[in-house]
Amino acid sequence: MSKIQNYFNNLANRVFPIGQIVQNLPYAMIFKTTHWCPNKCPHCCESAGAHMPKTFIPADVIEQYIKQAKTDPKFSRKLVFTGGEVMSAYQHHDTRYVPQLLNMALDNGCQVDIKTNAGWAIAKNTMREQIFNDLVGVLSAHSTSAFRMTPMQISLSLDRFHPHAMQKNLAFITEMAQRQHNSSCLIHITSFEKDADMFTELLNNLTTKYDVYQLVAFGGENNGNISQTMSDTLWSVNGNIVLKFSIGTLFDGGRAKDIDGAYHTPEPRFAFISGRQNPMLLMAFDTFGNVTLGENSGKKITVPWRDNDDTPRPLSEIRRDLVKQTRKTEVQYTAETFVVVNKAVFKSIKQDINTALGRRGIKKR
Ligand code: SF4
Repeated sequence: MSKIQNYFNNLANRVFPIGQIVQNLPYAMIFKTTHWCPNKCPHCCESAGAHMPKTFIPADVIEQYIKQAKTDPKFSRKLVFTGGEVMSAYQHHDTRYVPQLLNMALDNGCQVDIKTNAGWAIAKNTMREQIFNDLVGVLSAHSTSAFRMTPMQISLSLDRFHPHAMQKNLAFITEMAQRQHNSSCLIHITSFEKDADMFTELLNNLTTKYDVYQLVAFGGENNGNISQTMSDTLWSVNGNIVLKFSIGTLFDGGRAKDIDGAYHTPEPRFAFISGRQNPMLLMAFDTFGNVTLGENSGKKITVPWRDNDDTPRPLSEIRRDLVKQTRKTEVQYTAETFVVVNKAVFKSIKQDINTALGRRGIKKR
């Protein structure tokens, strides 16, 4: 890069810094493996449901991206597999899909979070048996530490929107507690502020069957906020499950736009960075062929991950285009804000002049 190019590049980064943040922050990759889901929760930010196509991001495409990311020092080695409902692959795609993704991610030294609505855990079908076997199999195969833990967490939702959420959470935790002999598993229960009591109910219920105790309290000072305190705590259940609880924000994306009190995100949404202490960029791949910064709501910064002929684009190109797209969006946003602010200033000056003229009895023609 010439000195002049370098100068303008530095200047652009100072005036519009968000592109540079996208370029330099470590990133996690989220794979929204399908948009199909048996539920149609009213708050679903993905607008997922049974009306969506039964299509999945192919496992070999995900593998290609993991392998390319591994050579990039900015990749945090954190992966999320979500949906829609990723476990619907057993019914509508390939029964090997989920274990393939999990083994591939763990074999490549990544930390994995897999999100499921666990509806299958209360269903009476063969899929249930196979999913539990696969999860326990993956966990046992990779649990090498003294605590039998694997760098993998399974995330469930516990709130008023997911149908039969309590029943599903209990069925899932109970079954995993019974089946795991060579491994332990981290289960992350996510909820909303208003539904935090459901976690206490879940713990009380588990206490009637298992030895449940608080493992460790970490994080900041106890500020008296019960959900905050619970978020800083881990629980051991039956010696082979670790429970973690967190409260999320209900954003007004997707169907959640109709929910009273859903948090409205500004346009465009630049809050695609997660974590305050070790900030990280979230890059979400979906079945429609897009990669989006952030997950939930607001005007999205998006570029395609595949070409018109369906060929996956190299990760380096995707990252470069995300930086460009972010800069473009920031320039547009700054220009729009400038026009809005200046219109307001101009209007107020005009009003002041008219008032001053009026006081002197001068009428404006
Ligand atoms: S919130 Fe989850 S379970 Fe509910 S419709 Fe969306 S993807 Fe399905």
